[in-house]
Amino acid sequence: MTTSLDSLTVLVTGGAGYIGSHAVLALRDHGIKTIVIDNLTTGYRWAVPADVPLIVADIGDFAAVSRTITQHDVGAILHFAGSVVVPESVENPLKYYANNTANSRTLIEAAVTNGVRHIIFSSTAATYGIPDHVPVAEDAPKSPINPYGMSKLMTEQMLADVAKAHSINYCALRYFNVAGADPKRRTGQSTAGATHLIKVAVEAALGKRDHVSIFGTDYDTPDGTGVRDYIHVSDLADAHVLALKALIEVPEESLTMNCGYGRGFSVTEVLDAVDRVAGVKINRKFEGRRAGDPDALTADNSRIRARLPWTPAYEDLDIIVTHALAWEKELERRAF
Ligand code: UDP
Repeated sequence: MTTSLDSLTVLVTGGAGYIGSHAVLALRDHGIKTIVIDNLTTGYRWAVPADVPLIVADIGDFAAVSRTITQHDVGAILHFAGSVVVPESVENPLKYYANNTANSRTLIEAAVTNGVRHIIFSSTAATYGIPDHVPVAEDAPKSPINPYGMSKLMTEQMLADVAKAHSINYCALRYFNVAGADPKRRTGQSTAGATHLIKVAVEAALGKRDHVSIFGTDYDTPDGTGVRDYIHVSDLADAHVLALKALIEVPEESLTMNCGYGRGFSVTEVLDAVDRVAGVKINRKFEGRRAGDPDALTADNSRIRARLPWTPAYEDLDIIVTHALAWEKELERRAF
């Protein structure tokens, strides 16, 4: 039986990806024995530290996951593997229900079958859809407006049902807008063709794009552009380690918690920050709204603040942008 973090091996699915690779670093920095399973479709081998075993396999492969769990005596799983592009989920919903829902079902079955006791699941604020009120709390209605959000919500539901039926507890962490990069530049957001605002803006600041589009200027927000709750990926990674501790300490409890700082910045404020930090003036193009974008989406984070001793270190928007920019330069230096 799992009793402490010291005696535990943690399996990180998607540990070669953006958020997963930061979680691996956080676990490793806490001295927790960690292994990674990743099919490397969007992840990178280099993103997994050399002393962390990497099993190249799909989480939908029951035999491979089961073998990994038993061979390494895995006691807990941090589950990041999945597809994350919202517009793609609208065009190709079955890909999302396969990668995010069906494969999660297989992973959870392998976990239950092989005696894993704790699962932390990478969920999303997209489960709320367009909330009636912001900041949005965990018990607000869940009405995803795209297959991505629904595919994650379905996995949350599976976990809730499984936790009632088996000796396993889970924590679903609903991420808001994840940005930034490891302050030591060991990993960062590396996907080509990224669409997320801060990544797009730092690329533009370095001349990799000639402009940034501002999608909508008529939102019901102070300056008319969309407002989001940007959270530094390393603070988010730390929340996973703390959530794991909580699951181990109280095995009969499962948790669902928002991960955001509880404050929002508009698109204009983000672009101003990138201009300021990079010392440039990004070319801004005003365009129409993107389908399905809410006016404002910020987290009520009172639950995570009350339940975990989470003290974010990088709440400042300029720091998030500084780290995102430093990683973008690192990508250039390494010529990825
Ligand atoms: N956004 C924008 N231009 C871009 C990318 C995003 O104006 O090139 C806006 C988008 O409409 C939203 C905010 O920036 O208001 C954050 O969007 P992002 O795609 O980063 O994350 P999302 O909130 O959609 O998950």
